[in-house]
Amino acid sequence: MWARPSWFGRVRSPWIIAAALAFVLVAAACVPAPPPPPPPPPTVPPGSKVYLTFDDGPSEYTPQILSVLQAKSVPATFFVVGQNAAQHPSTVQQAHAAGNGIGNHSWDHTDLTTLPPDLVRTQLQSTSDQIATLTGAPPAVWRPPFGAFNNTVTQIASSLGLSMRLWDVDTADHSTPGVNAIVDNVVNSARPDAIILLHDGSPGDDEDRSQTVAAVPIIIDTLRSLGYSFGSLVTTAGASSAPTGPTGPSVPIGRE
Ligand SMILES: [Zn+2]
Repeated sequence: MWARPSWFGRVRSPWIIAAALAFVLVAAACVPAPPPPPPPPPTVPPGSKVYLTFDDGPSEYTPQILSVLQAKSVPATFFVVGQNAAQHPSTVQQAHAAGNGIGNHSWDHTDLTTLPPDLVRTQLQSTSDQIATLTGAPPAVWRPPFGAFNNTVTQIASSLGLSMRLWDVDTADHSTPGVNAIVDNVVNSARPDAIILLHDGSPGDDEDRSQTVAAVPIIIDTLRSLGYSFGSLVTTAGASSAPTGPTGPSVPIGRE
């Protein structure tokens, strides 16, 4: 009769543990990795809107932006410089015909707070006249060049039927920081009813806006994926009512 050696019981346990551990490791290696989690649901309340606005145009880049907006069925608002509107009249007409808003951004993008009152009036009136010639109606909203205003300027604007519209989110696209930076500036700061500042042109009609052109479709797709829809600011007065909708902050937050 075989006699179990005394060491058998002590050694058997470690073998079983080692075998079990090996089995677990092999089994774990054979289990497929779990699928990635689904994308997060929209994070904004239903019906949340943002408002894309484009300043300092029109320019040679504006038609490209209009094509993107039309392809994606997104309205926007263009605060045009009067002298640039005179240089690109058909672009203003195309923007208006496509359902975009047209606002007043002065005739030549001068800081209106540095001008005597009569020249402030001329800057705004001549631009409103230009817009009316091209679209059939004068604008009811304006945005001050450089976001610079004072009581004199706003009183003159009001006397011309112009209500001021600033912005909530500055994309800094005028400094050409790169397409990704422009997109990030919007996505990181967007919130319901935010007015977003972009530039389709430049005061002298001579600056490169290709980064903005490239960023716009990404901005639209990204904000849509977060649950936002898009609106155009009301830019023309009704029979007896002032424009409504978001106005932006009462204090500018940077160069526009
Ligand atoms: Zn501007």
